[in-house]
Amino acid sequence: MAGNTILYRGSLKSCNYHCSYCPFSKHKESMRELQTDRQQWIRFCRSLAERAAVLDIRALLVAPYGEALIHSWYWRGFAELTRLQRTDAVGAQTNLSFPVASSMEYFRQAGGCGDKLRLWASFHPEMVSVSRFAKQCGRMLDEGVRLCAGAVANPKYLEVCRQIRKALPAEVYLWLNRMDGQKRPYTEEEQRAFEEIDPFFFRELSYPQADCKQCEKRLFVEGDGTLRTCNLGMRQKRNWYELASDFPKPECRRKFCSCYLAYAGREDFGRAGDFGEYPLFRMLK
Ligand code: SF4
Ligand code: SF4
Repeated sequence: MAGNTILYRGSLKSCNYHCSYCPFSKHKESMRELQTDRQQWIRFCRSLAERAAVLDIRALLVAPYGEALIHSWYWRGFAELTRLQRTDAVGAQTNLSFPVASSMEYFRQAGGCGDKLRLWASFHPEMVSVSRFAKQCGRMLDEGVRLCAGAVANPKYLEVCRQIRKALPAEVYLWLNRMDGQKRPYTEEEQRAFEEIDPFFFRELSYPQADCKQCEKRLFVEGDGTLRTCNLGMRQKRNWYELASDFPKPECRRKFCSCYLAYAGREDFGRAGDFGEYPLFRMLK
């Protein structure tokens, strides 16, 4: 049976890619900031290992403000956490730009269990070609790692989205996110075209009304231990390092759950059953 899920955000705020619309591409992280991120991650992994049983945590998704998997400490942490008997799924959102062979070797040498690794790979059309992205996906699949892939449903890149779909094996789910900042609704034709690529794209066009009673089994943790019910939700009074035996009661002032990381962590979304036991990883059953 599925347990609770943690989404670790960390304090990292930098990326090796430079997408023009993204604030994290502009920030050059100092050695000190990287060290802080590393220390916070190591501390978090240790605390998760200690409390996974009592808090019934079985899944961890790193959802960083930037790119985490180019840093070796995340792979070491994954190795430790996938080794735990309690965990079913451990992974990250990533632009997939890390070196596959050396990262996986490092992960395996540290005792990691590849069966539990899950990657959420985002395609960035300004930074990488379809063939290069698909090759990286293929390399991870060859390593036995499960992944989903996806992109923003920008009408300008409709043809590129079609090409990604064609370039990936059928068993890899290709998601499309609604484009933030698009100043007009999608036309019917665009909607249809994107739904041919991602059959669940319609969920991005009509977000559910907020209902935080549905959000008791998932928590977001910042690098310093600050807790939020979701990425859109409120800061909680208790800190991760103060949690002893239960998750805090969820609080939320939002009207809608307006992104996948929010609505896919709701229990009613999980009951829909399309994405298996841990829908936040966005992998079809
Ligand atoms: S890959 Fe993601 S985090 Fe990195 S610059 Fe692009 S949008 Fe930002
Ligand atoms: S916005 Fe977030 S915390 Fe609020 S109800 Fe939606 S998923 Fe839950």
